[in-house]
Formats: sequence, C-alpha cells, structure tokens
Amino acid sequence: MKKEKTFVILKPDAVQRSLMGEIIHRLERTGLKFIAFKFIVPTKEQCYSHYNKDDKWFLEKGTRVLNDRQTKGLPIDKTATEYGKEINEGNVRLLTSGPVLLIVLEGNQAAGIVRKIVGGTEPLTSDVGTIRGDLTIDSYMLAGTDGRAVRNLIHCSESAEEAEREIPIWFKKEELMDYRLLNEAILYDVNLDGILE
Ligand code: ADP
Repeated sequence: MKKEKTFVILKPDAVQRSLMGEIIHRLERTGLKFIAFKFIVPTKEQCYSHYNKDDKWFLEKGTRVLNDRQTKGLPIDKTATEYGKEINEGNVRLLTSGPVLLIVLEGNQAAGIVRKIVGGTEPLTSDVGTIRGDLTIDSYMLAGTDGRAVRNLIHCSESAEEAEREIPIWFKKEELMDYRLLNEAILYDVNLDGILE
C-alpha cells in the first residue's frame, strides 16, 4: 500500500497559464512523495498509447456532443462514435501542442487521493476546492461543439492499476526515484502517543 503509485500530467493549458507551481503545491501538501518529473513535448504515439479509450467511451462522450449540437442548432454530420473519437483526437492535439510536465507520485492510496484533489472532468461540476473546480471554467458544451478537448489542466490516473499501465509509456524504470521522505515517518513510524514529555 505504502508504495502505491499514481501518474499525473500537467497539460499544456496548465503550463501556458503558469499554474504549475500552484498545482504542484496542492499535490505536495497532501504528503504524497514525488518520485519522478519530466518536462517534454509528447509524441503522438505516446498520447495514443496513453489515451487508449474504447468504443464505450467514444459512444458516451460522442452522444453528449451530439445532444449539445442539437441544443445549439448546429449541423450533425457525424455519428456519436465519430464525435467521441474527435474528442480523443482533441486530447492528442492538446497534449502534443506544447510542453507538459509529467509527474509520478507515491504513497498510501496515492491514486484515490490525487483523483480527489484533481476533481471531476468538467469544471462546472468538479467540486469546489479541487484543482479543476477552483482553477478552470471550460465546459463540455464549449469544447465539444468546437471539436476540441475540455481544457481542465491536469490528467491523473483513474486507479493504481491504470497508473501501472500509464507510467511505462512515459518513464523508464530507472527514472523513478527510490528514497524516503522524512514526512513518511509521521505516518508509518512515529508513535504520536509518546511526543509529550
Ligand atoms: P478524466 O481526465 O477526468 O479522467 P476522461 O479520461 O474521461 O476524463 O477524458 C480524458 C480527457 O478528455 C478529459 O480530461 C478532457 O480533457 C477530455 N474530455 C472528456 N470528455 C469530454 C467531452 N465531453 N468534451 C470534450 N472533452 C472531453
């Protein structure tokens, strides 16, 4: 459990909006340990391996776009699945558009903790206090009808298993640091019953 890893990408919109420090600060103060950083412009191949979305995802996302286009009175010239695939293309386009910061964090329940503070996908419904809820205003309606991905600053792994799949796409094993944070002693070693003299 202590060694659970999760993977984060600060997307180009986070870099362009000078929000890297703010987001790193929010991640760091959880007490999780940073074990890798990398600042790169991703390749298309890396992005397609990373976003390995399936037909269910395309259909679900595309149906929303279709409904939004209907609401806005825009022409519908694709199937729901095709609109869903367009979102995935939009994700790849966004990630390859400029530098991103790749981060691996480690610690107890790392994936769930990071997901919680990142917040839900769409800014309007992500909780107050989360990275996406506090710092973004894009919407499915705006992004979907423009044929692009929602700009929500950050990607984080869905689960520890998903992190295990994603991390090797971006990092070599030897790029992950193995060290101990003093902070961890508070959680795992120190008996706080004994601190009063
Ligand atoms: P999350 O990033 O919250 O795990 P997903 O994995 O479902 O969400 O989607 C990946 C990314 O695709 C999202 O972060 C967002 O940028 C984009 N996206 C998801 N759904 C839509 C949508 N309906 N319209 C536009 N972009 C979307």
